[in-house]
Amino acid sequence: MMHWSMSRQSSWVQLAGHQGNFQVSKGGEVLKLYSEVEANCLDCLMRDPLRPFVPQYHGLVTRGELCYIRLEDLLSGLKRPVIMDCKMGVRTYQEDELVKARVKAPLRSDMYQKMVKMDPSAPSAEEHAQRGVTKWRYLQWRDSISSTSTLGFRIEGIMVGVKAREGTALFMFIKTIQNVKLLLDFLAYHSRLLALSDALKNSPFFRTHEVIGSSLLFVHDHSKASVWMIDFGKTTPLPDSQELRHNVPWSEGSREDGYLIVKTTMLQRPFCFLIR
Ligand code: ATP
Ligand code: MG
Ligand code: MG
Repeated sequence: MMHWSMSRQSSWVQLAGHQGNFQVSKGGEVLKLYSEVEANCLDCLMRDPLRPFVPQYHGLVTRGELCYIRLEDLLSGLKRPVIMDCKMGVRTYQEDELVKARVKAPLRSDMYQKMVKMDPSAPSAEEHAQRGVTKWRYLQWRDSISSTSTLGFRIEGIMVGVKAREGTALFMFIKTIQNVKLLLDFLAYHSRLLALSDALKNSPFFRTHEVIGSSLLFVHDHSKASVWMIDFGKTTPLPDSQELRHNVPWSEGSREDGYLIVKTTMLQRPFCFLIR
């Protein structure tokens, strides 16, 4: 859901995610609805080589009845920024969500409706009869119709000038490398991406966490370009000093997330950043 506010120095734009999750705040910060999983990740990341690639985390604040995570506003000070949210990895659901879906998961009619709106033939006969799908089924379907399952990332949204496009509407069907040429506009990010690639290699956090549904946020204006890691609401530590490679296919139980699959699938560019 895109949300836009002109009432401040930088033009706050939310390209993806749930609209109610964010509040703009004074002093170059955005507030994101608290989740323990995300707050734990941000705590850890502030002490990790990935820190320069993550919005600064300033702890928690309460607004009314709700608790929020205080994050550096990555758009602060930029004039008419161009923004792209790329959700990374070969799947956007956690293994737990798959297990729950098998045992007993509630049927979601909202997700069924979204599915039918995009493609009336997507739900099975049983799902049509139930007028509902599990959350896992919906997330897995979205992964399969977008480039997530094949290329290891998908574009959730892009904003250029005043035109914003939501991933769900426009980019979910981008499946081939050819169609992803849009990304060429973003090649100015090259050196930042190489530095990120190094930081990922040296990061204890990255080695020991399953990173699901997290995005790279590409942001530039006339003067500078930068890339940031955001959205750690589904990023969880591995048990028993287990480590992930991030560049191999997922099989159930491995917890591999495919965060670096883009490196092996897109050697031709445009994600040349992860090639070394
Ligand atoms: P999802 O549905 O992907 O789980 P979410 O509700 O967890 O979404 P995020 O992905 O963290 O939310 O953020 C949604 C959008 O808000 C991003 O695409 C980006 O446009 C904007 N955004 C998030 N964090 C920041 C930040 N620190 N500074 C500026 N913009 C941000
Ligand atoms: Mg997100
Ligand atoms: Mg999220």
